[in-house]
Amino acid sequence: MFVRLRYRVGAPGVGKGTFAKKISPHYGIPIMSTGDLVRNEISSGSALGAKIKAINDSGNLVGDDIIVEMAEGAMKSVKGGFILDGFPRTIAQAEAAEGFTKLDLVVNLMLPQEVLVEKTVNRRVCNDCGEGFNLANIVRDGMDMPALLPAVPGVCDKCGGDLVQRSDDTEEIVNNRLRVYDDETKPLVEFYRSRNLLTDFKIVKGIADLDRLIAAIDARTN
Ligand code: ADP
Repeated sequence: MFVRLRYRVGAPGVGKGTFAKKISPHYGIPIMSTGDLVRNEISSGSALGAKIKAINDSGNLVGDDIIVEMAEGAMKSVKGGFILDGFPRTIAQAEAAEGFTKLDLVVNLMLPQEVLVEKTVNRRVCNDCGEGFNLANIVRDGMDMPALLPAVPGVCDKCGGDLVQRSDDTEEIVNNRLRVYDDETKPLVEFYRSRNLLTDFKIVKGIADLDRLIAAIDARTN
């Protein structure tokens, strides 16, 4: 199957990045994550990076013009299909994106709000390779999401790097990111539903939902 392009929308902590990393090898297409582009720009030490660091640290969204330029540049460098992770995130970005790309499917990953907070503040990422782990054990109300623990606490299973908490994953910043999500990003659900591109996907088992997610994507794109 040839998949040209997909986009996943979802609140912070829902697992957009984690699922994207798993389905990317399944379909043989790369991920384009604007969160990673933003973090790379900040760590590059550029003037633009310095400008967007404060925005990123507060959990607010980087300006549409900056993000659209970054996303368009990254998409142009990829031949064939890819998975978009975290872009577009506002109606203005979605409208701009329609000018330079065509989406096949938008997946709306869904989890209750209090679970999003618990998952996000317990998220740990590898400082070196970006691999994700989660210390939260969410087994209640029909959900069965055991913690994704590293074999050795604080050490990445994949590369041996240090596991850290992202600076925007503290409870205060996470609550702000969720407010921003409700105000700015949630309207995209209806935007893409009205274009018949949206598929809602309720997460119940975390990463163990992967096969069900792939089946849901295939059902809409085959
Ligand atoms: P999460 O989905 O967990 O909030 P991301 O890694 O996708 O994390 O994004 C981290 C931060 O990067 C956001 O809080 C925001 O500041 C910035 N960012 C990423 N993508 C966008 C976007 N499409 N528009 C504006 N800001 C973005």
